[in-house]
Amino acid sequence: MVLLGPPGVGKGTQARLLSKTFRIPEIGTGDIFRNAVKERTPMGVAAKTFMDAGKLVPDDVTIGLVEERLRADDTKGGFILDGFPRTAQQATALDALVHRNQLHLDAVLEITVDPTELVRRLTGRRLCAVCQTPYHLESAPSRLPDTCDRCGGPLVQRPDDDEATVLKRLDEYERKTKPLTEYYRAAGLLKAIDGNGDVESVNARIMAALQAPVGETA
Ligand code: AMP
Repeated sequence: MVLLGPPGVGKGTQARLLSKTFRIPEIGTGDIFRNAVKERTPMGVAAKTFMDAGKLVPDDVTIGLVEERLRADDTKGGFILDGFPRTAQQATALDALVHRNQLHLDAVLEITVDPTELVRRLTGRRLCAVCQTPYHLESAPSRLPDTCDRCGGPLVQRPDDDEATVLKRLDEYERKTKPLTEYYRAAGLLKAIDGNGDVESVNARIMAALQAPVGETA
């Protein structure tokens, strides 16, 4: 399964829920890059410049990373891709990879919300630096300012969630990733999901869409 949609639409949150429901791994390329940055691996050092600028990491690096991740045994029963593919070249590489491993894509979920809502969600987003629990300054604030309710860790803002970088990330999405929706629609795989509302409602729409034939989605 592939989750497509602009930054801030809730792909990561929904991917984690789907991963639990279907007991298959969730593979978030953004998460993998952020870990590599934290651990200062050569890939992390190379990716950081692009991430901080709100730009996509080059295709060869990203495709290599996904190829390697999909070699792991835990993906044999299926997987959820969150944030990959994001370019036409990545989509072609994924097709080849899936074909080579005698797999197939079941569904591509395109989650959408209004652009102004995306900016609000992203710029207000805070994460616990210790346990990664997500918060939002307005819609899901912590009880004490800047402190995680769960573990007491400090809340931080992702370096690419400041308004200027958010606008660049949304622009990258429109130019490079949005065209993939047509590619997957033509392949008969695309399911459109309304990403407005709370996490549970969006998840319910996804579960309904996964059961409906293509074309009859929320
Ligand atoms: P995300 O957490 O999905 O918003 O990703 C954070 C950042 O990681 C993006 O702004 C890109 O710089 C990089 N990134 C994540 N996935 C990809 C991808 N499939 N292709 C290129 N860059 C990516």
